[in-house]
Parts: sequence; C-alpha cells; structure tokens
Amino acid sequence: MNDVAANISKIKQQIPAGVILVAVSKTKPVELLQEAYKCGIRDFGENKVQELCTKQAFMPTDVQWHLIGHLQTNKVKYIAPFIYLIHSVDSWKLLQEINKQAAKHNRVVNCLLQIYIASEETKFGLDKQELMEILTNSELQSLKHIRILGLMGMASNTSDESIIQREFKNLKQLFDELKHQSFAQTSMEILSMGMSGDYALAIAEGSTMIRVGSSIFGSR
Ligand SMILES: *Cc1c(COP(=O)(O)O)cnc(C)c1O
Repeated sequence: MNDVAANISKIKQQIPAGVILVAVSKTKPVELLQEAYKCGIRDFGENKVQELCTKQAFMPTDVQWHLIGHLQTNKVKYIAPFIYLIHSVDSWKLLQEINKQAAKHNRVVNCLLQIYIASEETKFGLDKQELMEILTNSELQSLKHIRILGLMGMASNTSDESIIQREFKNLKQLFDELKHQSFAQTSMEILSMGMSGDYALAIAEGSTMIRVGSSIFGSR
C-alpha cells in the first residue's frame, strides 16, 4: 500500500460516519489525486481556481470539487459550471456573482460562509455582524442560484490546543444558533472545520466536514 492509501485508511478509521472527509490536493500532482480516488475519495479541495480547473479536466466526472481558498469575483465564472461547494464566501458581492454565474449554467451552487474565528491576524472571513448582514439581506431570497449550506472556519495556527478548542467551540455555537433561525436560501447543515493538525479537535467540537491535505498527500 502506498502512503496515500495508508494515510486515507488511517484517517477514515478516526472519523465518525457522518463527517465528510475533503482531500485537500493543492500543489499535488493529478497522479496522487487519482490514488486517492481509487481509495474511494470523491471530495477534493483546492484553494486556487486555475489549479482546480486544470485538475478537474483529468479526473472522473463524479468528483465533487470544493473551493476552499479565497475567491475573487472575476474568477467565479471558471468554476460555476461544475463546482460542488464553495467554502470561502466572505462577502455579499461574491455571493451575488456566484448567483449570476450559476444562473448562466442553470445550476444552484452550494456555499459556505467563511467565518473569522482565529485570534491571530488573518485576511479572510466574516465577523458575526457581517455574517448577519448577509443572512438578513432582504435580497437574499432573490438569489435563486445559490444555496447557503453552512459555515467554514480556520483555527489559529498554534500548538496551544486550548486556543484551537475555544475557537471551534465558538464557531459551533454560532452554527447552532443559526440552525434554529430561518434565512432565505439557507439550510445550516455543514460545519467545515478541521485540517491535518486539528481535525480530531474539530470533530470533538462538532465538525461535520474536515479538510485534510498534508496528512493524506504529505507536506507541501
Ligand atoms: C491548505 C488548506 C487546508 C489543508 O491543510 P493541511 O494542514 O494540509 O491539512 C484546509 N483548509 C484550507 C482553507 C486550506 O487552505
């Protein structure tokens, strides 16, 4: 068994049924994605639009592609025909553009709202107020070609597990609060949190989707 197969089987043993494993394949060659595919992986995550589109052409059509990195509005058109889930929606303007491009292909594109949870300086993600402004925007109901399926967050890059745990707890709490409310075009089902270094903590705090790169494909 090669590394990718062994790594996937090890991770699968550690995650409960119901938690979806997204294999983050950024910077890795298509051959390694194909190895993962043979092991049953169907969800692949990339953080750059161009790399995602290039690899998509070489992979079977039943792959579900996840965009996990920052998305510029002018690049939405390239992924709109096929993208399965965009984890990194961080503005109203981006949501409108996704809707516009998805409409051209008569699709409904699944989106997660990326929330800023880390205590360190990071560039992307909504705070709670910005999140609520999007969810309560009276025009949200007119965006028929997007569906908001949940939240995504990245914890601080620290070895202090108590910090990471607190950040995941906060995101889960927010997710649960929103679950009990009703917003247009929204169904809070997916909580995308946890990467190679912290997915066990994330699952313990209620993650439903983990994004794992280096623990599957090796360090970058
Ligand atoms: C790269 C990346 C991951 C995977 O990181 P690993 O530490 O390699 O598992 C997960 N989420 C996002 C948003 C990423 O950019």
